[in-house]
Amino acid sequence: MNKDEVIVVTGAGGFIGGSLIRYFKEKGFTNLRAVDKKPLYEWYQVVEGAESLCLDVSEYQNCVRAVENAKEVYNLAADMGGMGFIEKNRVECLRSILINTNMIEAAYNAGVDRYFFSSSACAYNTDLQKTPDVIALKEADAYPAMAERGYGWEKLVSEMFCEEYAAERGMKTFIARFHNVYGPFGTWDGGREKAPAAMCRKVISAQDSGNPAMEIWGDGSQTRSYMYIDDCTKGIDMIMHCDELIATPINLGSSELVSVNELVDNVEKVADYKVERSYDLDAPKGVAGRNSDNTFIKKMLNWEPSTPLAEGIAKTYKWISQQYSDRKAGKRTVS
Ligand code: NAD
Repeated sequence: MNKDEVIVVTGAGGFIGGSLIRYFKEKGFTNLRAVDKKPLYEWYQVVEGAESLCLDVSEYQNCVRAVENAKEVYNLAADMGGMGFIEKNRVECLRSILINTNMIEAAYNAGVDRYFFSSSACAYNTDLQKTPDVIALKEADAYPAMAERGYGWEKLVSEMFCEEYAAERGMKTFIARFHNVYGPFGTWDGGREKAPAAMCRKVISAQDSGNPAMEIWGDGSQTRSYMYIDDCTKGIDMIMHCDELIATPINLGSSELVSVNELVDNVEKVADYKVERSYDLDAPKGVAGRNSDNTFIKKMLNWEPSTPLAEGIAKTYKWISQQYSDRKAGKRTVS
């Protein structure tokens, strides 16, 4: 692809979309269009040289504007957050269906060459995720369908849109199921943050206040894998440019499975500080266990996300620490 072709990323005021724009800029692309509904001052990253548009892409006419002259479209816009958000805002999560429905139609009508949809591990059948000793989820495990209520069903139906636009209209669509992405420039406070960022913030705050008490949601035995942001952006690029993956959902996640307690151990190690843990068994905790089976991605791309959790947490912790002190000093911060 020529470096001056138009690449559009929606949700670019958020964590992964903003990082993806930066990734393409660093690769030398010169015609980047970042789109998000938030006002510009709330964007997590505004990448210099990219066209930054504030548009709500749940509305069709805004999608038409967003995809003008585009060669590739990466749809990462969604109303989402960590477990605390998605368990309490199912209607909002379901309403993200409008985003993909309108974006894919506008992209198709504009003759876009390739279209990427960011799905989620929440699309998998929840019946397979009832114990912490999970068998890693492979792509076929989304069916028979019993996705996570709200957010997961929206992702599954949007995947279906991508599959049918390819089958019926010959559009090149690509679908990745992300498993818990974390890293610098991610939401770290305010209710939408995910576990790695929340743990970092809580440890930093405990240390800062001198009160080591820290509450953990659930009993700490829930297991997950966490993918570092640089693996996510690289994986998106590789998936989008692999023709054998047209209309084929694929896992994009780390296969390093840890419990929430082990995640906290990692953060404590980086911080060189021990918290006193208590467990809120009534808090939102999601499924008991979930991991990414990477057999398919390794076969198709000869690659898988591989940043070790300890390494990614060290970078994330450092960034959140800086955000925390900036906020204390009255400076503007992300989230
Ligand atoms: P994020 O919340 O940081 O970014 C999403 C962005 O989309 C936000 O900036 C939001 O303002 C924007 N948005 C929402 N509705 C919009 C609309 N109608 N029009 C324009 N912009 C709109 O989330 P993220 O972590 O960067 O996630 C990006 C994508 O990846 C989402 O589709 C999400 O569901 C998916 N995903 C993320 C994870 C993860 O761990 N972060 C896991 C699985 C899937």
